[in-house]
Amino acid sequence: HQADMAMYSAKSEGGGYRFYGHEIDRHQQARRAIREALESALQENGLALYLQPIVDLADGRPVGAEALLRWPQASGEVLAPDSFLWAVHDDPLMERIGRWVIATGVSILRAWQSESALAEMTLALNVSDWELRKKGFCESLDQLAGGEHPVNYARLHFEIVETASLSDRKEIVEVLTQCAARGISVYLDDFGTGYASLSHLSEMPVNGVKIDRRFVDQIDRASQSRSLVQAIIGMAEPFGHAVVAEGIERPEQTAWLRQLGCRYGQGYLFGRPMPADEFRAWVTAWQGQDELPA
Ligand code: C2E
Ligand code: MG
Ligand code: MG
Ligand code: MG
Repeated sequence: HQADMAMYSAKSEGGGYRFYGHEIDRHQQARRAIREALESALQENGLALYLQPIVDLADGRPVGAEALLRWPQASGEVLAPDSFLWAVHDDPLMERIGRWVIATGVSILRAWQSESALAEMTLALNVSDWELRKKGFCESLDQLAGGEHPVNYARLHFEIVETASLSDRKEIVEVLTQCAARGISVYLDDFGTGYASLSHLSEMPVNGVKIDRRFVDQIDRASQSRSLVQAIIGMAEPFGHAVVAEGIERPEQTAWLRQLGCRYGQGYLFGRPMPADEFRAWVTAWQGQDELPA
């Protein structure tokens, strides 16, 4: 059913795509197949969090990582979330995947805390607003992060996507306020692509924004892109928010972002999403470089 999965995920990305007749059946079948396979993957510890470096654009120094969900297949292929999360969006399975992500993220942070090379690194976890609104979100987080070697919440970041469905604003603000009280930083992900960026910035207890890749993509090639990024940074600055640019692939993009006042970035130019062990080696290698004579 892998071909199906690829096909249906491509369609689902269009957003406005409509299914007719037998296609509806095939869509439902694909969805069911993905859910069942994900269910077993969860039970058999078959999911993975890959880590992508987030760097200070001033010198390329890693400051942390974003955890990105991956689903390794028996074939050796590693599926990215866009090819399977659509099938569980409004499903309790999404909640369980979210819990797995948080539990795994917390254990990564806990391991880092005892290693000098990694102790200062932040770890950003993507959380859906659906998960956030579940009762007891912070309490179950505390259970995972507490104990004999509690996780330093100052190292934990959450990334939430601004969408129209952030309509249950009151509940979201409540839980984000609880996160803030613990010292967790919250970033608005894919910033600028949603419906109500400005009102989110003024109403939500957030600490930073992530500029979506689509704005960064042409920043070194089109002046309109630069104006857009400048406007986005201009929106975040008065609130004192940190700004992270996504999807940096060329040095010229870094130069422009720096000039426009964007402090942090991530993208293939610096590092691709990689397994946790590789990230550890990547950071260590970077720090080794740092000590070389100029
Ligand atoms: P996102 O949070 O905006 O993550 C950034 C996406 O950009 C990632 O895609 C990353 O691999 C990709 N990316 C990073 N640098 C570059 C670059 O230089 N060039 C290009 N072309 N792409 C780059 P990915 O891993 O496929 O994730 C897609 C989306 O899936 C994420 O977007 C996030 O919204 C969602 N997601 C990922 N992990 C989780 C998770 O654990 N929980 C939830 N709820 N959503 C997740
Ligand atoms: Mg993200
Ligand atoms: Mg993003
Ligand atoms: Mg995105």
